Amino acid sequence: MSLRQLLHPDWLLDCTLAELPLQQLLERQIAALVVDVDLTLLPWRQSTVPRSCQRWLEEAHRQLPIHLLSNNPSRERIGAVAADLGLPFTTSAGKPRRAALRRVLEQLQLPHRQVALIGDRLFTDVIAGNRLGLYTVLVKPTDPLGQPCRHDRLQRLELRLAHWLGSSVG
Ligand SMILES: [Mg+2]
Repeated sequence: MSLRQLLHPDWLLDCTLAELPLQQLLERQIAALVVDVDLTLLPWRQSTVPRSCQRWLEEAHRQLPIHLLSNNPSRERIGAVAADLGLPFTTSAGKPRRAALRRVLEQLQLPHRQVALIGDRLFTDVIAGNRLGLYTVLVKPTDPLGQPCRHDRLQRLELRLAHWLGSSVG
């Protein structure tokens, strides 16, 4: 798979997780979610998931298994969020490397195409998911209200870089 393909999310959203249309994932036969934590669920330097994102996860979790997959090494930070939401989690995931994600997929026992990986970073989340054939969804980084963060320079930089590298995103 070429770099430009690896950098191409299956679904590029202009909103945060809180406004992701869950129904469209279900219509695509998505049967499990792997969700990034920092900036997908937790705003910059915060340890509380915005209420709107919590509600989205609760609704989604009524229909699908969800695993939180974070590159953050802090079991305390990520574990507290996971405990609040009642979800299994992995820290120090090393995305875009595949090992941690593979372990989650082994537990899920689903065709990879039926697992969506939702995250805010192209060069970690999207690449990791694409390497294993998951359905990759790029959301906007969240602010404390669950709205797109206005200072998301990193994602904008990544999208520009991906575009420059020949991906059709950005
Ligand atoms: Mg993130």
